[in-house]
Amino acid sequence: MDKQNFIEKYFSVLDNGYVSLIDVMGDDAAICQAARVSYGKGTKSISDDRGLIRYLLRHKHTTPLEMVVFKFHIAMPIHVHIQFIRHRMSTTNEYSARYSVVPEVIYDEYHLNAQSKNNKQGRTDDNVFGDGYDVELKDKIHKNELEAFALYNEMTKAGVAREVARMHLPLNTYTYFYWKIDLHNLLHFLSLRCDGHAQYEIRQYANTLAGLVNVCCPAAFEAWEDYAFGASTLTRLDKILLDFVIRVKSDDPIAGYNNDEQVLKKAEEIGMSKREVAEFFEKLVPKDKVNFDLDLSTAKDASFYGSE
Ligand SMILES: Cc1cc2nc3c(=O)[nH]c(=O)nc-3n(C[C@H](O)[C@H](O)[C@H](O)COP(=O)(O)OP(=O)(O)OC[C@H]3O[C@@H](n4cnc5c(N)ncnc54)[C@H](O)[C@@H]3O)c2cc1C
Repeated sequence: MDKQNFIEKYFSVLDNGYVSLIDVMGDDAAICQAARVSYGKGTKSISDDRGLIRYLLRHKHTTPLEMVVFKFHIAMPIHVHIQFIRHRMSTTNEYSARYSVVPEVIYDEYHLNAQSKNNKQGRTDDNVFGDGYDVELKDKIHKNELEAFALYNEMTKAGVAREVARMHLPLNTYTYFYWKIDLHNLLHFLSLRCDGHAQYEIRQYANTLAGLVNVCCPAAFEAWEDYAFGASTLTRLDKILLDFVIRVKSDDPIAGYNNDEQVLKKAEEIGMSKREVAEFFEKLVPKDKVNFDLDLSTAKDASFYGSE
């Protein structure tokens, strides 16, 4: 895939958002060029670029990854942006709602899923409200949004300062920004935000960004999938329990042992909480590979969103 074909293409995210790669400096070769400066002759043993990149990621020698820098143009609901800008090792320049009028663009296509009972931060997969109540709620929300924008327009037309009038606009109003970040920090971002524990909405942005990283630096991306995204860190206690499971229960080291009395007793003995034990067994389950491929034929030019 030629990364040039992806520059300034706009990939749709959620109902009215997008991610576009505006510019990128560097690629897999730039990572290797930087690494070879520090290793000199030592890299002769790792002669090919893919092998060198995989070595770097396995051993957390990450500064060569900082030689690759991306600049994106992104549109996302404000509530997603609040999570997004927590990633401080990046640079953002956002649309100014003090200077300019806020466009009436709202994230409206979400599902009213129920609060999860075991994940206090998350939602269940189900819309438990049933069709009737769901439609009623969505109508109320939409009406509320239209009223908020009507009042906003009324205030700005009456001469109220835009920085004041914007204050009561809903959190699902879209905002627009440029985002610059190097590959090291972007992979860290993807590890956190492509993960199933991240909120659905930010995950959609992370998955699109992941697709673009894959296009620009395929070897580094593959190494990230293998050593970070698809990997798990074993704690000291995990290792003791794993050793026990393998030695004492050598017939089938994983299946069924999350309920095995001896294993649970051993876990208790070494001070693991029930949650740690559950997480330990989760780590041993291989992660399915996620398909991050982007369909270039669905991408739009900037003029599409400009005219919208
Ligand atoms: C599933 C999930 C749930 C979350 N829930 C909450 C929540 O409830 N409340 C909340 O406030 N946040 C929450 N966050 C945000 C989270 O705490 C981090 O702020 C966010 O993920 C950014 O991570 P980061 O600091 O590693 O990234 P960056 O800010 O990009 O930093 C990258 C790395 O640089 C280093 N670094 C950056 N700044 C400093 C510093 N000041 N000192 C030392 N080292 C630094 C660290 O090594 C850091 O990992 C959540 C995140 C996730 C993924």
